[in-house]
Amino acid sequence: MNHVSYEEWVKYVNNEINDNVREVYDDHLYSCDQCLELYLQAVTELESSLPVLSNADDFTNLVMADVSQVKKKLPEKQAPFYQRTSFHYIVAAAMTLLFMTSGVFQSITKYAGAVETPSIDESPPSMTEEIMNKTFAWIDTFEIKNREANK
Ligand SMILES: [Zn+2]
Repeated sequence: MNHVSYEEWVKYVNNEINDNVREVYDDHLYSCDQCLELYLQAVTELESSLPVLSNADDFTNLVMADVSQVKKKLPEKQAPFYQRTSFHYIVAAAMTLLFMTSGVFQSITKYAGAVETPSIDESPPSMTEEIMNKTFAWIDTFEIKNREANK
């Protein structure tokens, strides 16, 4: 299929498209890194319009609760977890957290640079996987710390 425009991804994130179109976009998102990038931009845009939570703990708990739900769905590769609106919020929140830790930011920047270099023979792992893995690894670390702090 043709690539999806940024405007369309914004609608997708905001749940402003019908289910049939959504399914097509879901499928496309799995296979197209280019559109994934646009989708992530749309999510970032959404994130900047999210209500600001005054209590940082509430925010953390909210994210943790949602993330553990998404994680349960992850083993099944084709599960359409993009369909959940809350997933967009998780991505947005996770991205924000990621970018606040400069080390991870640098490694993603480095990775993005590597992807853009056409001379690489080996095809790199998909950007989604990379971001998801980094995000969940980070959140796992955070969860463990949190649990230990609550002992
Ligand atoms: Zn595409």
